[in-house]
Amino acid sequence: MAKSPGNGGPRNPGADPLDRTPLAALQEGLVVSHLGQGLAIENAAGEIVLCHTRRRLGNVAVGDRVLWEPMDGSQGRVEELLPRRSLLTRPGHNAKIRPVAANLDRVLVVVAPTPEPDWLLVDQYLAACEHRGLAAAVVVNKIDRVENRAGVLSVLEDYRAIGYPCVTTSAKSGEGLEELRALLAGQCAMLAGQSGVGKSSLTNALLPDKQLRTQALSEKAGLGRHTTTAATLYHLPGGGDIIDSPGVAVFGLAEMTALDLASGYREFRHWLARCQFNDCRHTGDKGCAVREAAETGRIGMERYRRFVKLLDKLQLAGRL
Ligand code: GDP
Ligand code: ZN
Repeated sequence: MAKSPGNGGPRNPGADPLDRTPLAALQEGLVVSHLGQGLAIENAAGEIVLCHTRRRLGNVAVGDRVLWEPMDGSQGRVEELLPRRSLLTRPGHNAKIRPVAANLDRVLVVVAPTPEPDWLLVDQYLAACEHRGLAAAVVVNKIDRVENRAGVLSVLEDYRAIGYPCVTTSAKSGEGLEELRALLAGQCAMLAGQSGVGKSSLTNALLPDKQLRTQALSEKAGLGRHTTTAATLYHLPGGGDIIDSPGVAVFGLAEMTALDLASGYREFRHWLARCQFNDCRHTGDKGCAVREAAETGRIGMERYRRFVKLLDKLQLAGRL
């Protein structure tokens, strides 16, 4: 970094004239929310500081680690974005890619008996996680409402067989929440899924003081009693973090190619190199090892069918 090491030291003549923050004044912080024009940064003492960013930093996301400098009053300015270990994105306006959350470890894909499970969407999320190098898990919530438990468990078995942790929960009765907490411990996770499956109910059940924390953030941002609906990172009482991102139901196939989608089906990977042609699309192609594996029961036929549908979806969207 081309910065002078001490307070008031000589400026590096080659440095950006705006880049004059002495290194010693910079503190590390964690972006916990976007608030209007600013960012809520948690400092090393666990306090929230409202910060502005430099334009050149580009898109800073919740979960990012940054270096920031205290400014007048109780506010600060973000000077540097520290390297990320992961970044989840979604398509935004004007075909722009928007960041959703940084430094995530795991996405919990939530389904429920109502609204009716959309397994195509589940597979889409899982493929996007594979592409981003994120761990995932499948959560069936509202298990208290499920009449045919055996049916649900057999669908989950397909996912468990290919290595995805699966948890059944009820935000209402508390069933399965211990298992969910154990899965989240020491990680940064986000819940994804259709609206109405119980993502906010689960988040509230995991975070008893969520309301208070949200209120504190809103007051910090000068929003008064109006609570923010922005993506927010919360620390879980038992360790680990959860990023609550209301309204971000869709993320995923942005930036993914047909190749990425095929390897996003993790059970396909073993077969991909065995197809007769190396430009195989794994649909009706001659000598396709993936299709043959599905037809002979080596990989799940349901997942394979959904892969073909998702590939169609990418094509219809003009992305391939
Ligand atoms: P979100 O849109 O995914 O955040 O879903 P919400 O958390 O808003 O929940 C949608 C509806 O499902 C609400 O009426 C909740 O009370 C209800 N709900 C959430 N979790 C459960 C559950 O485990 N069992 C039952 N019976 N209802 C639930
Ligand atoms: Zn193939």
